[in-house]
Amino acid sequence: NKQVIIIGSGIAGLASSIRLANKGYQVQVFEANAYPGGKLSEITQDGYRFDTGPSLFTLPEQVEELFTISGKNSHDHFRYIRLPVNCHYFWEDGTRIKAYADINKFAAEVESKLGEKRETVLHALENASFIYKYLSPLFMHRSLHRIGTWFGSNALKAYLRLGKLGLFQTMNESNQRQFSHPKLVQLFNRYATYNGSNPYQTPATLNIIPHLEFNRGAYFPKKGMHAITESLYKLACELGVQFHFNQKVDKIVVEKNHVKGVMVQGKLHEADLLVNNMDMVNAYKTLLRDQQQPKRLLQQPKSSSALIFYWGIKKTFPDLDLHNILFSEDYKEEFDHIFSKQTIYSDPTVYINITSVYKNDDAPANCMNWFTMINVPNNQGQDWELLKSEARFAIIAKINRTLNTDIESLIEVEEILEPITIETKTSSANGALYGNSSNNRYAAFLRHANYSPIKGLYFCGGSVHPGGGIPLCLLSAKIMADMIPKNQGSTNTL
Ligand code: FAD
Repeated sequence: NKQVIIIGSGIAGLASSIRLANKGYQVQVFEANAYPGGKLSEITQDGYRFDTGPSLFTLPEQVEELFTISGKNSHDHFRYIRLPVNCHYFWEDGTRIKAYADINKFAAEVESKLGEKRETVLHALENASFIYKYLSPLFMHRSLHRIGTWFGSNALKAYLRLGKLGLFQTMNESNQRQFSHPKLVQLFNRYATYNGSNPYQTPATLNIIPHLEFNRGAYFPKKGMHAITESLYKLACELGVQFHFNQKVDKIVVEKNHVKGVMVQGKLHEADLLVNNMDMVNAYKTLLRDQQQPKRLLQQPKSSSALIFYWGIKKTFPDLDLHNILFSEDYKEEFDHIFSKQTIYSDPTVYINITSVYKNDDAPANCMNWFTMINVPNNQGQDWELLKSEARFAIIAKINRTLNTDIESLIEVEEILEPITIETKTSSANGALYGNSSNNRYAAFLRHANYSPIKGLYFCGGSVHPGGGIPLCLLSAKIMADMIPKNQGSTNTL
């Protein structure tokens, strides 16, 4: 059987291993960490469990498909529920909005709380759905680097509607046109953060994201986000994929412009094909440093990063849901701090994710596991010790003002994740969450391809096409695997 080596067991590396094992390849995964999942892992402490990275789950069918192509019923291995409320939004003046999954209920909630007409909200969601309809067949399911993609019928349909796809205005400009209430503009601008971008710079094309949450749904895996990693890792093992943990790849060996294998701890492991799931920028700077570099892509600004406090809270707050947002009073200023000043604003928007709301055993009785996160600049060598302590103070003050509590006295467990740790734990350039940012008109469309000029070398994961976030990472594995023919010598009948 032909051999494939995958570098990294992030969510896209796992999905790639499953897809290629199904195509009859002998697959080995080399992972620098002692565990699979990369950003999608978990920590436990004193009766609390926390998902460490992603918390919002959309397009669950992308996970299910991996079971289906492996001849299994995904419901026997991976279960999830659709959330009745996507997110609970809080402002300091006491305004609270529940983003119900039922869009009519959400529109009615917005009308009653902000006086914005329900039709306006429903129209905005229709607009999001329109962008999705015309861009997703092109952008999410195909390589934009294959010339055929640009000349197919899907491309033609998109060209004909170019003016309506949001490329020529920013997300904020579009939302200001759509809505009259600044709080609603803020609520919809927040979707830019789903891929680490700035709503005041990123094109309104990113208004595609609310479509995923409202029209397609936000979900929660019954055993927590980490169950995505666990179930896919188990599936890959069942398909015969071999994992090598604590085995960092040091170099991709190339001969006559064709991959030969990887160097790990001074030893060459040969393979017919290589799939790189390591952050693209760092892969070129380390594993491929002797090869031609895609300079423009390497120099592009990166997406934002995150500062997270995992707090065990010895109290329950009935008003809080799985996803909660405590909004900044000045959103523009907050983003100027993140992207221009590269520091943290004193009144940050605080995101609190509490899985114990749905999964009781994630916290002891009468307690909650708070994943408390703010968006921060990626690592440019800032004084993180200082920024962290200032941010902790600002976050606690914000929570106390908005929820009328004294949160500090309720914290009994604390762990912290910051840009430097994200960088060291997952090799992400500058600790950015989503690879290159989409802060200019074309950046989202001009990411690194899922293949490379070096024969036999492929790319998947959040730093390449189509982008970061679990669904897009899973799609990157699909687009990549679709480029690789079934292994002819294989006896695999799937
Ligand atoms: P990664 O998770 O980046 O993993 C790469 C793997 O490769 C790592 O395990 C690393 O150790 C390994 N590796 C790197 N270099 C080497 C080497 N040389 N040799 C061997 N192994 C190597 N997405 C969502 O969809 N929803 C969210 O709510 C969300 N929130 C997020 C919050 C946070 C705090 C973070 C950090 C991310 C969030 N994301 C979210 C983004 C999402 O987590 C990522 O886009 C996705 O998990 C990236 O997966 P990946 O396959 O690119 O690999």
